[in-house]
Amino acid sequence: MTLTAHALAGAAAASLMPENPALGFCAGFASHFVLDAIPHWNYEPRSPALDPKRGGTLRLNKALFSDLGIISFDGLLGLGLALLLFGRHGLWFPAFAGVTGAYLPDALHFVTARFPREPFISFTRFHNGIQRDIAENSALLGVLSQILFIAAFLGALHYVAPALL
Ligand SMILES: [Zn+2]
Repeated sequence: MTLTAHALAGAAAASLMPENPALGFCAGFASHFVLDAIPHWNYEPRSPALDPKRGGTLRLNKALFSDLGIISFDGLLGLGLALLLFGRHGLWFPAFAGVTGAYLPDALHFVTARFPREPFISFTRFHNGIQRDIAENSALLGVLSQILFIAAFLGALHYVAPALL
């Protein structure tokens, strides 16, 4: 899933337990695997240095900057939307804790690419094993499917927990 989808799910999970941001962080972390188990499109890193499946020396090239640009945009969009939606109720910190927890598994993915040793290798094997990637050649369709997923998620959350959203 995109970081934006992970951010919103993580913030939502953590906002259900606002009195305990540490637990919210863990809930955000756990929500990452629930979302990854749902069939989804994903963007793959172009730079081998960021891909645990390929590994590779870190080279400052076009592929790396392109990856960093996409990941930063996705990550900041997710964090911004989560703080905007859940911060309205004064849940800034729980939302932030949930987002960081939800981002951690993907951050560890890149740690494994740079430092391929235990426990990161086992964690990445588990993380990859849970993925339900849909091979989609069109990035546009892939992004649209993620937007639809996020809209459906927020719609369901509004229905289930109207006080939250
Ligand atoms: Zn993931």
